[in-house]
This record gives sequence, C-alpha cells and structure tokens, in this order.
Amino acid sequence: QNPALAEIEARAAAMLSVEARIYTERRPKALASTQAGNGFFDGVPMHWMLDWPMPFPMIVDRASGVRLTDVDGNEVVDLCLGDTGAMFGHGPAPILRALEGVAHRGLTTMLPSADANVVASLLVERFGLPRWQIAATASDANRFAIRAARAVTGRRKILVFDGCYHGSVDETLVDLVDGKTLSRASLLGQAVDLGENTISIPFNDEEALRAALASGEVACVLAEPVMTNCGMILPEEGFHDVLRRLTREAGTLLLLDETHTISSGLGGYTAVHGLEPDILVMGKPIGGGIPVSIWGMTFDVAALLDKARKARETSGHSGIGTTLSGSALQLACLRASLEQIVTAETYARMGRQADVIDEGLRAAIADCGLPWTVTRVGARLEVVFTDTPVRNAVEARAAASSTIESALHLALLNRGFLVTPFHNMILVAPPLEEHEAQGLVRAYRDVLGELAATKA
Ligand code: PMP
Repeated sequence: QNPALAEIEARAAAMLSVEARIYTERRPKALASTQAGNGFFDGVPMHWMLDWPMPFPMIVDRASGVRLTDVDGNEVVDLCLGDTGAMFGHGPAPILRALEGVAHRGLTTMLPSADANVVASLLVERFGLPRWQIAATASDANRFAIRAARAVTGRRKILVFDGCYHGSVDETLVDLVDGKTLSRASLLGQAVDLGENTISIPFNDEEALRAALASGEVACVLAEPVMTNCGMILPEEGFHDVLRRLTREAGTLLLLDETHTISSGLGGYTAVHGLEPDILVMGKPIGGGIPVSIWGMTFDVAALLDKARKARETSGHSGIGTTLSGSALQLACLRASLEQIVTAETYARMGRQADVIDEGLRAAIADCGLPWTVTRVGARLEVVFTDTPVRNAVEARAAASSTIESALHLALLNRGFLVTPFHNMILVAPPLEEHEAQGLVRAYRDVLGELAATKA
C-alpha cells in the first residue's frame, strides 16, 4: 500500500468516528427501533441491510424521485437507488399508473396478460435479441440463462471473471486464488466445490481466456460488459472483440449480464457498443423497481434450446422458470417502463447530470492533490483510489480501502447525499436536478479536502 493512502486512511478512521456520532444523533427513532429487537433474524428484513457503513440502518419513511426521507425526518438525495433497483428514480409516474391499473385486473395468474405481445415486441426492438423470457430477479435470470447455455451446448462448465458478482447463483460465487478457482470463502452452507464447474480468470486477460476456452468444456462465458461489483473495471480497448471472437471459435456462448451496465445508455452497454451476446440478462430497474428480470437469446440459441427440450426422454420440470415469473404485474410495469421511462431522452437527462458530477469530482480530486480518478459507465460513477483505472480484480482490491470508503460514505450521507454502500458508486437517476448534482460535488469536495488535509 502506498504511504499517501495510509495517511489518508488514518484521517479517514478519525473522520469515521465523528461522522458516525453525527449520524446517530440525528436518528433517535431508528436507533430505538434497532435496539427494540423484532421478529426478524438480525432485526432486519434482509441481513444485508446491516452491511452498510452506518452504525445502524436508517429507516425509510418514503422515497420519491431521488429524495429519500427517513422516519427521523432526515431528507437525503438518493444516489444509491437501491443499488440500481430504482435506477430510473423512485416511483416514476408511469409505474404508479401501471400499478394502479394492474392491481384491479389481477396481479398473477400463471397465464399471459394482454400486455404480453406489446412487451415482447418492445424487448426485441430495444435490446436486439429476438427471443425472450421473464424471471423475477437478475439472480434467477442468470441461473436460467446458464441452464439454457448448458442445455444448448451440452457442456458443463462456465467461465466468469475474477471479482464477479451475478447474484446468488452458485456457479458464480467463486474466487480466483493462486490460479485456482475456489468456492468463495465467505459462503454459508456450501456443500459442493464450485471450482469443479466454474473457471475464473482475470478480466482483460486474453491469454487466460484463450487457455480456459481451449478445453472445449465451457458452455458459456458469463460476464458484465464492465465489471461493477469489485469496484468498476472497464474493458480494455479491443477486449470485447477478443472475447466474442474466442468464444465463437470455441463454440462457447457469450452471456452478458447487463443488470448494472444498463446505466450505459439505451439498450445497455450491448447496444451502445454494438456487442453481440448469444444471451443477455437484465434485472433490477427494468420494470421500475418491481421484481422483474429479462433474459433474451438469439434465434440459434432458441432453436437449440427447443431441440434440447424435445430430445428429453420425459417432460416435466425444466429447471427454468418460477411461478411468479411473467406475471401480469411484471408485464404491466415492464410495458410502462420500456414505453415511457427507459428512453433516449431519459438517458440524455441522466447523462447531463452524470457529466456535471464526473467533471466536478475530477476537479475536486485534482484540487486536493489526490492521486485518484473517476471511472464511469454512463450514469454510474465511482471514485477509485489510484490515478489510473484498474484492469482486473487484483488491482481493484489493491486500490480499495474500506476505511476510506466508509468514511466517505458516512460523511456524504451527513451532508445529505446517499451513495451506494459498495464502493460508493454514484447512480444518477433521471429526476436528479443540476443543483443536486452540484451539491454532491460540493459535499465531495468538502470531504476530500478533509481527507487530503488541504482544507483551510
Ligand atoms: N447481476 C449483477 C451484475 C448484479 O450486480 C446483481 C446484484 N447486484 C445481480 C446480478 C443480482 O441481482 P438480484 O439481487 O436482483 O438478483
């Protein structure tokens, strides 16, 4: 670790305790509620809610647009947006109208609703692939897509990039340790060795990719076009061309997970950069925040999947699909989202405020003399604690500091801005106004000045 970072870390540790006290003082109700205990394991509906950097979770009273108010009356600008679930803002009007309408026509029937054909056409038109299925979460969509890839290729293994996260999908919960793919050490209840069916290699590494595909055993490469779950790691110039060429040569399918990179622009990173996946997954914000995800495939994959299905000796469970998938609720919200929210104009608006933040943060970093940089994928930005972008998970982990991240997170929150708890990513939703973007930059500048000790 470089000495400059160690000094900043020391100041961050001091900042953290001051900011934690301020956070706590402002939230007596949340504190009391946490201490009271309740019927939830860990006292929260989902245990990750304790993984944020604050001493205890704030309790949300309401969220609308990019404003979030807690039960103690603190209002903040939300740039976390449920870690992308609300990427297009909380409660966009078209979703509220769709919810109201569908609530009276039946939420779930395990049959197509009248919105089905419209949604199918919108998916084909928007994301370029000709055949689609609906699931409930991005984790589920990835699970089904992997199963489809295996059925289609008749191969067992999948390949992922070190540092990946694709949801609670067993095959992907691996780490690359001393050149070996191992089950992630933190997993609970892990019964099988995940390294048996998964190969993990460093991102941006053509040679490792070539070597891993050579065995001919890999059904699919599952990748985010830009890695966003181990810090943000951009593909190097030409890497996606190499990835596509080598997977085609090896008869391996390319499965892109655009759950986070939907921030890139209309149609996701795939459309913006002209990528050619065999299977594409999107989740979280695609239906305006209700649980829905989509996975699409080429005609070739669809034909082979159909063939594999017919070749089975018996009908019955395919292992693909769940009861609530493809519901009327999901279709109504997907339709509203794709017709009225996820549009070129929306992305243009998000891009303008992301520009303000991008330029403002770079200037603040430079003025504070910090050897840091900003990485960006459309409306998603991250401050990285190195002066050049990282190339893979090893570099990303070396550049990270949980102390600085936590201090930044809490200090920004106390100044009215909520960023993601993971790497402090900043997500720009369409309702964000320029004065709010400028406000974030000012708050960041203030905190960076303290961390760099350049503040008067
Ligand atoms: N894919 C990616 C790239 C993700 O970042 C995540 C969640 N952060 C998922 C899939 C899983 O999404 P969900 O939790 O909605 O299943």
